[in-house]
Amino acid sequence: MLRDAIRALAEAKIAPYAAAVDEEARFPREALDALVANDLHAVHVPEEYGGGGADALATVIVIEEVARVCASSSLIPAVNKLGSLPVILSGSEDLKKKYLGPLAKGDAMFSYALSEPDAGSDAAGMKTKAVRDGDSYVLNGVKRWITNAGESAYYTVMAVTDPSKRSKGISAFVVEKSDDGVSFGAPEKKLGIKGSPTREVYLDNVRIPADRMIGAEGTGFATAMKTLDHTRITIAAQALGIAQGALDYAKGYVKERKQFGKAIAEFQGIQFMLADMAMKIEAARQLTYAAAAKSERGDSDLTFQGAAAKCFASDVAMEVTTDAVQLLGGYGYTRDYPVERMMRDAKITQIYEGTNQVQRIVMARNLP
Ligand SMILES: Cc1cc2nc3c(=O)[nH]c(=O)nc-3n(C[C@H](O)[C@H](O)[C@H](O)COP(=O)(O)OP(=O)(O)OC[C@H]3O[C@@H](n4cnc5c(N)ncnc54)[C@H](O)[C@@H]3O)c2cc1C
Repeated sequence: MLRDAIRALAEAKIAPYAAAVDEEARFPREALDALVANDLHAVHVPEEYGGGGADALATVIVIEEVARVCASSSLIPAVNKLGSLPVILSGSEDLKKKYLGPLAKGDAMFSYALSEPDAGSDAAGMKTKAVRDGDSYVLNGVKRWITNAGESAYYTVMAVTDPSKRSKGISAFVVEKSDDGVSFGAPEKKLGIKGSPTREVYLDNVRIPADRMIGAEGTGFATAMKTLDHTRITIAAQALGIAQGALDYAKGYVKERKQFGKAIAEFQGIQFMLADMAMKIEAARQLTYAAAAKSERGDSDLTFQGAAAKCFASDVAMEVTTDAVQLLGGYGYTRDYPVERMMRDAKITQIYEGTNQVQRIVMARNLP
């Protein structure tokens, strides 16, 4: 029922704008409005804080179905989970009450600020600092590649509180867009997900109350990594949705397109490509849904499975979207058809929330 509801909504209210959002590189306002109106923008927020209380699998299905029509828009529910999960996992009751309510209502979005210009795969090498001063912390630094920066009201920011301890000297904080000293860089000009704003976040003497710290001092990096265990599965879901969208489009196209006097769907070479695409998508789906169940239960092998799902599904998305372009021939290579957008959008799923090389490091360290 959830899938039917979100698919109908995505096709009616999000798909019609997907090409324009990409072409104009603009925030998908129509998608945000439609998702908020239907309480699908942050389904993961627990009921006690005013949310829908969706489990990890339901959240995955929402993201998958939005990504099937518009990958940029799927970053609204996905990043709302990414940004707020540190608060849900490790935040105080006061922080949860203060920040999850507006998120659940659709009054605020939540971003996640871990990466920096010189600290990507090696996120623990970050330089942003938070220095205690009485009842406050004062933050200084630059966060890079922050999805929905400028649009989100709230940011989970990881910063160094004790430089001598590397990852154990990092703490997490909630920073608000309205805090003095917070500003944003120009939107990055990207290959894909052009509708999803990616900007730097500048923290210039940002003074915040000490109780905005998420969990204890020095636990921020652990919280950030624990968050990724759960949210890599949402990137797998995004990849899965992009791949399914490309397959669905190509499936229709090959029945219409005629060469050599018949529909190209009648050629076995084409049929085999479609069969491989569908097989890979289904394998990615099974891995992703199993990982979502592990996320929900908190299984001990979640770290492996989440990394495996993200890595596998994103590689599948890249392969399937590339094949979809191939199936449309020259038409597939133009922006008159959606598969070239899907191919460009798929690429990011192999890069963010840890590149697929990093996922392989994570898997190798956590072999089942
Ligand atoms: C569009 C977009 C949105 C993003 N959104 C967010 C966000 O909301 N919040 C956030 O915090 N970050 C975000 N990121 C950052 C993203 O997670 C990083 O770009 C990513 O983790 C890679 O870091 P890097 O770009 O510094 O690459 P690098 O770490 O410099 O990596 C360069 C290459 O080296 C490889 N490499 C690095 N180390 C190793 C190793 N040990 N072994 C093998 N290979 C290695 C990498 O796999 C990659 O191929 C986003 C990025 C983009 C592009």
